[in-house]
Amino acid sequence: MTHDPVPDLLARATQLLEAEFNSLPAFEQAIDQGAIAQVLQATAHRLGDNYPYFHPLYAGQMLKPPHPVARAAYALAMKINPNNHARDGGRASSEMEIEAVQQIAAMFGWAEFLGHLTSSGTLANLEALWVARQLAPGKRIVGSEQAHYTHERISAVLRIDYAGIAADRHGRMKLEALEAELRKGDVGTVVVTLGTTAIGAVDPLDEVLALKKRYGFRVHVDGAYGGYFRLIPEALDEPARRAYAAMSEADSIAVDPHKHGLQPYGCGCVLFRDPAVGRFYKHDSPYTYFTSKQLHLGEISLECSRAGAAAVALWATQRLLPLTPGGEFARGLARGRAAAVEMDRRLRLDKRFETLAVGSPDLDIVAWKVKAASLELASEQAQKIFVACGTRNLHLALVQLPHSWFETLNCCIDRDEAMPAACLRSVLMKPEHEAWLDRIWKELTAACGDVWGE
Ligand SMILES: *Cc1c(COP(=O)(O)O)cnc(C)c1O
Repeated sequence: MTHDPVPDLLARATQLLEAEFNSLPAFEQAIDQGAIAQVLQATAHRLGDNYPYFHPLYAGQMLKPPHPVARAAYALAMKINPNNHARDGGRASSEMEIEAVQQIAAMFGWAEFLGHLTSSGTLANLEALWVARQLAPGKRIVGSEQAHYTHERISAVLRIDYAGIAADRHGRMKLEALEAELRKGDVGTVVVTLGTTAIGAVDPLDEVLALKKRYGFRVHVDGAYGGYFRLIPEALDEPARRAYAAMSEADSIAVDPHKHGLQPYGCGCVLFRDPAVGRFYKHDSPYTYFTSKQLHLGEISLECSRAGAAAVALWATQRLLPLTPGGEFARGLARGRAAAVEMDRRLRLDKRFETLAVGSPDLDIVAWKVKAASLELASEQAQKIFVACGTRNLHLALVQLPHSWFETLNCCIDRDEAMPAACLRSVLMKPEHEAWLDRIWKELTAACGDVWGE
């Protein structure tokens, strides 16, 4: 492995932080360094049993290494271990959260809003759907069949009826299917996913908003994975570009800094366009809010304790890499996207594989099927190639996709349209994936040779 700059950077910053508390009488924490060193040795060894998420040859699931500045800032904050529930627990980190969240909201075109960080995208979506229910009790929530599985579960937790809407061969919500549900007159909220978890498909937000004018409902955008692509419209194809351009008209947005925002887990974010929804969070707490009349983040959040360190890491990262179109952060996103477009191009030309029937990927996730005489065989081959790639240190993922999404529907003897096929999938979300694509391709080809004995 290459030299890790974080320990040196952290050591210097730690001295500065300690100096901030110089006025306190000195005290030493009694610790047994030798024993800790031993435990850490065992810890490091245990952690070796992981896929190498930090490496460009890890191109499987949605795992992106936190930026060094985020790792250092998070670890620095551990000296304090602030709790962003209330200013009593995290004065500085609450301010940093408010600033960082303002910058995220500004990316979506919002200056006035209500929002905060959460432990995860799931929690961010939960808060958005909870507010949706408070505003329209008894109304249903609908989302595409390709929406994240937690929407249905969250709805069950909140005791809201939920229905899935069919997706087309792009993996995008079908508008006719949506309109059929809307005609029933009881839909309170539509969840629009910008960047599905399976293949990064972008639902047609602009067209859903046009239906909103006719039918009247709330629009929640789940941008947990794809929200940040708002920064690079020029790198997207037309339908996705239009969807991202419409984001500022959503009622609420979830986005995960711990997915594309270079943050450690857990860092999600929920935003509401109308700050007045803050009234739903109102509660009395006899013990937490006493040091300040200013807003405590716990007053606008369903969670109580939250890692202030997550806010500190996010603030530091956005200070180094502001969320601006054309900036370094945006260019990093565009490089992953370019890698996915190039990977898709190569797969399309390759006789061993079949790609999705329509167009290039919406974002930076590629999925493809192995050509075979039956779906069962195709799935079996995908599984074998997945394992053979892993042996060669190339880590891909597998995903079940409807057979009907692929080019040659007539290829297979078992051609039931709805039948899923196990496909290979690669999330090319690291900027380095662009430069490593040749190597990724070479290992994929070699792994196919291992499986097919070439
Ligand atoms: C990952 C993801 C979620 C869930 O977010 P977590 O941070 O894993 O809880 C929700 N929606 C989409 C589209 C996702 O990709």
